[in-house]
Amino acid sequence: MIAISKPYIGEEEKAAVLEVLESGQLSQGPRTSLFEERFAKMCGVDHAVAVSSGTAALHLALLAYDIGPGDEVITTPFTFMATVNAILLTGAKPVLVDIDEDTFNINLDLVEAAITPRTKAIMPVDLYGLMSDMTRAEEIAEKYGLKLIEDACQSFLATCRGRYAGSFGAGAFSFYATKNLMTGEGGMITTNDAALAERCRLLRSHGMTRRYHHEILGLNYRMTEIQAALGLVQLDRIEGFVEQRRANAAYLNAKIESVHTPTVPPGYEHVWHQYTVRINGERSRDASLQKLAEAGIGTGVYYPVPVHCQPSLRGVIGDIRLPVAEKLAGEVLSLPIHPQLTPDELGTIAAEVNRL
Ligand SMILES: *Cc1c(COP(=O)(O)O)cnc(C)c1O
Repeated sequence: MIAISKPYIGEEEKAAVLEVLESGQLSQGPRTSLFEERFAKMCGVDHAVAVSSGTAALHLALLAYDIGPGDEVITTPFTFMATVNAILLTGAKPVLVDIDEDTFNINLDLVEAAITPRTKAIMPVDLYGLMSDMTRAEEIAEKYGLKLIEDACQSFLATCRGRYAGSFGAGAFSFYATKNLMTGEGGMITTNDAALAERCRLLRSHGMTRRYHHEILGLNYRMTEIQAALGLVQLDRIEGFVEQRRANAAYLNAKIESVHTPTVPPGYEHVWHQYTVRINGERSRDASLQKLAEAGIGTGVYYPVPVHCQPSLRGVIGDIRLPVAEKLAGEVLSLPIHPQLTPDELGTIAAEVNRL
């Protein structure tokens, strides 16, 4: 079976983890600080705060911006549930705006109409590794005095008009096992705002300024040294990984003729966390997925149910229709794109998709 994703764990990763175990310092320490420093540099920002997951990064960024009950946060319905759960966990209300058919990301043309006096922030998601139109989102945020939080969990090193993911307002990253850069579980908040970074650091560790002195209410969202050690090794590899993902995507885009392949708008650099085709017309997505499985090709559907149609949100947001998100949820199919694919495997993927 050709796996849809495959974390890269080499000898260096194993040695780095062993070194932590032998050091005796297991939680947030020097490796975490170094990981933060190097990560910030690579995103072109002044500050990075390491946390335990992407969900924790989103939650802390919202809390650090003082978003809570009575506030509204505008985001996309076509994302992993964590985006919206992070908003709900602060007590704020998610306001979902439909997506753009070509990029799968929030449609910025619809955002201004969704702004109310209660709107506190805009939270675009960079789905599949393609950034949302963050420069436009930044213009809108500035015009209305809103905070900007970028769910960059899938888009480390992607760019929009020359600026890296995570370099707008506050960025939230995930290092979950299947992400382009992985530490098993893990996350990061990036920002140029020193005060925001400081608040995130406090919130991450029970609002503690010095040992057992608590300035504000906080949580335990700390990263372990094991995660940071893995992250540091993966940072050495990430540019090669991204290059290979780009080459794989270029190959599939050139070879696949049977279905609608993904495009990259001018001014953007994609990092191909997922390579997602659309299966529509005569073909059924679920039958296609089955056929590919029979041919030994693992696929994924990200995401089969848009956020506003999830049972957990019943009664939380009203009965709304978001037609583009609903349509694409029925059509998307992600194919393997990870850097460990062999040329033979890529050839098989393209050939089998063309036979659908
Ligand atoms: C992975 C992901 C998250 C959550 O990250 P975790 O590390 O799993 O908590 C949030 N948003 C998006 C878009 C993601 O892909």
